[in-house]
Amino acid sequence: MPQASVEQIQSWGVVGAGGAGFPSHVKFRAKAEVIILNAAECEPLLHKDKELLRASPDEVISGLSQARQLVGAREAVIGIKGKYHDVIELLRPKLPEGMRIVELADSYPTGDEFILVYDVTKRIIPPGKIPLAVGAVVTNVETALNVARARPVTEKFLTVAGAVAEPVTIRVPVGVTFREVIGMAGGPTVDDPVALVGGVMMGRLSTDFSEVVTKTTGGLIVLPKDHRLAQRYMLGANWKATARIGASACDQCSFCTEFCPRYLLGHPIEPHKAMRSLGYSMVGEANVIGTLFCCECNLCTMMACPEDLDPSKVCVQNKRRLMSEGRKWEVEAVATRPELHLDNRRVPIGRLIRKLGLADFKNKGPLLEASLMAKRVKLPLKQHVGAPAGAVVKVGDAVKCGDVIAKPAENQLGAVIHASISGRVKEVSDAIVIEA
Ligand code: SF4
Ligand code: SF4
Repeated sequence: MPQASVEQIQSWGVVGAGGAGFPSHVKFRAKAEVIILNAAECEPLLHKDKELLRASPDEVISGLSQARQLVGAREAVIGIKGKYHDVIELLRPKLPEGMRIVELADSYPTGDEFILVYDVTKRIIPPGKIPLAVGAVVTNVETALNVARARPVTEKFLTVAGAVAEPVTIRVPVGVTFREVIGMAGGPTVDDPVALVGGVMMGRLSTDFSEVVTKTTGGLIVLPKDHRLAQRYMLGANWKATARIGASACDQCSFCTEFCPRYLLGHPIEPHKAMRSLGYSMVGEANVIGTLFCCECNLCTMMACPEDLDPSKVCVQNKRRLMSEGRKWEVEAVATRPELHLDNRRVPIGRLIRKLGLADFKNKGPLLEASLMAKRVKLPLKQHVGAPAGAVVKVGDAVKCGDVIAKPAENQLGAVIHASISGRVKEVSDAIVIEA
């Protein structure tokens, strides 16, 4: 496949498909020693990345090779769980020179960039920095696929799992509703379903299935509304209750800190201190600057705390406030040695699944060949890191699948958005609606 340029990647609207949606053309302008393909996929019940690697190994390897060329890396590494023997055996004979596989533990949060970079390079990204600080760039499986496909990003792959008739990984036009994609998994198997968008650990709760799939929607886990995970997310939305209960019930056992992957990397974050600080304050706020380095993995809340408290929420709320105040903390030194603790405190996925009450759901998500023939799509103008794109179409315009319908302003961080179906523009607001 021909080498893509950053300008082409920009024109195709490629963004990080596994997280916040950082524009790939910006990431690939950097120079790095190593580029790492993040195929760890450690969120319970999600299977998209492994399925894409199995279905399109040549394309993903090509996309990774092209990205490697752009960043000038001397080597490319595919980080994938060692338990996926069949995928690894499929990939190994296809690897070009300078590309290798690192087999990762079946634990959470193996896919966290800081943990992944440490596992692959044994380098610790300093607190508050990005992988580039240690000469690494990390990219996602679907992002590499989108580079290799060399065309506008109009489709999204995602796993639909949990309380559905048949968990699947599917390919759909960007902008279709959650209701439609859950339908492709045979529909919900419970009366009052909700969904965790993006994963059960780092996702968000949705009770509105008219919400749409964007370029970054990696999965939907459907659950009954009374499932304890769904209840946990609902309670977490009530900050005052979270802070009040945390201040009175935390016994300072520090289990949350002992499990925290960033603490184990030597970063100065200790969630039990954020919990303790709730008690110092008259206004129910935490105030601990180390929370700036929380990666929001939720392990402290979902796995560690024996009192069912929400130290993650407390850290994240504190982090957001500090960031909104423009607070920074430059920390050079790494105080602890991860090799002493990180490995023996990794949380096995099987144990996490049982702890979260997900053991009764099928843990699989085979890739469906067929896509969805959508009649209507709604494409939000912000599906990426940066400013929302500006619409370049108006109501009544006829568009073809792949046409540019919105783009960022000159010199602004953002990504181009394309029509994901052919049809007519019905609405332009903070999203563009197209009907076939
Ligand atoms: S969510 Fe909890 S465990 Fe995860 S990084 Fe933040 S404080 Fe640490
Ligand atoms: S694990 Fe729970 S009880 Fe223990 S210090 Fe952390 S928040 Fe408090």
